[in-house]
Amino acid sequence: MADTEITIFDKIVSKQIPANIVYEDDLCLAFKDINPQAPIHFVLIPKNRDGLTQLSKAEDRHKNLLGHLMVAVSKIAAQEPLLKDGFRIVVNDGLHGGQSVYHIHIHIFGGTQLTWPPG
Ligand code: AMP
Repeated sequence: MADTEITIFDKIVSKQIPANIVYEDDLCLAFKDINPQAPIHFVLIPKNRDGLTQLSKAEDRHKNLLGHLMVAVSKIAAQEPLLKDGFRIVVNDGLHGGQSVYHIHIHIFGGTQLTWPPG
């Protein structure tokens, strides 16, 4: 898809559609997944994806943003009691990764003992 195509996540950022927001800072936003796959299932997105429709589009210029997202994961985990015993993050990329929304995002799963390997 084109880098500039409006996704459902752009509409969440612009508040055109509602989301249950659990974390927000100047660069990113996390909200409850509408179709949760675990007791805790958050989706963390950059507000401006800067061409990052998916992780495989990452370039050197994205290092700061990607690092910011990882630190945000840590902050989100610290504020959610059900993540105190651990959690898992997942980035689905492309067709084989099962990606459905082409605005890079990190899934955060927890609140239960997760099994390994994932499907
Ligand atoms: P992926 O399949 O990795 O692209 O993940 C996209 C995720 O976004 C899925 O887990 C969806 O359930 C979730 N999702 C899609 N639309 C919404 C929405 N309006 N609010 C919250 N989560 C959504």
